[in-house]
Amino acid sequence: MNFLITILGSGAALPTGHRRCSAQVVNVGGFKMLLDCAEGTQDNIRRCHIKLQALGTILISHLHGDHFFGLPGLLSTMHLCGRTEPVTVIAPKGAKQVIETTFELTGNHIGYPLEFIEMDFSEGLHRVFEGKRCTVDAFPIVHSVPTYGFRITEVPRGISTSAPLSYAYCCDTAYTEDIIPYIQGVDLLCLECTFANELETLATERQHLTAGQAGRLAALAGVKQLLLTHISARYKEPQILLDQATAEFPNTLLAEDTLVLEIKSERQKLKG
Ligand SMILES: [Zn+2]
Ligand SMILES: [Zn+2]
Repeated sequence: MNFLITILGSGAALPTGHRRCSAQVVNVGGFKMLLDCAEGTQDNIRRCHIKLQALGTILISHLHGDHFFGLPGLLSTMHLCGRTEPVTVIAPKGAKQVIETTFELTGNHIGYPLEFIEMDFSEGLHRVFEGKRCTVDAFPIVHSVPTYGFRITEVPRGISTSAPLSYAYCCDTAYTEDIIPYIQGVDLLCLECTFANELETLATERQHLTAGQAGRLAALAGVKQLLLTHISARYKEPQILLDQATAEFPNTLLAEDTLVLEIKSERQKLKG
């Protein structure tokens, strides 16, 4: 079964010529979900040749603009393109009010059923989605507003001897080892890495990670591979971030907009 991650945006806070802000499409066996929805996400969906109407399940980590401000426009475009199928938005508490108020006050209209599953918990792993192809569990992470990480696990189609493939996404977060039980052993862990190690004080103040801290969390959690995202616009040449994370955890990649990654089991890798 295919398990693909398409990076739509890998930048922090401000969109730049090189990087849009946070958004990804996760495709598990043909079932596609949108993960965060910064401004400009619908453009990048098109650039990556993904069908917008296939994204009926949308996960939002937190309500900061660089993860959320693309959602009203994207939902509106879905309507304008004739959508009738329902859309489910899984997001922190408050998202429903923001979206409904936006549509109400701007006189825009959505002609398809829009369902919200709002997350409002401060501990533990909570199942927020259960489908034929995958499940999604959410867990709280540490940031300046309520923020959730997601662990997406495939549902094997038949009897399998290997563990189901899994992907975890934590963006944005301050350094905390409390998340380790939730991300333990995943095949791919996507962590934010806003700053280089030299700016650790700023990272702590703004509740973000440095590259070294991201590498350390990946090593402590025993994941298979680390993907760094949420790169500050100050790093025109982000190699320093990759070097610093790799010093803590060798199997690390840096996200680039439009990059597609495939998560494979060890056995599939040997075959491939
Ligand atoms: Zn952010
Ligand atoms: Zn944030």
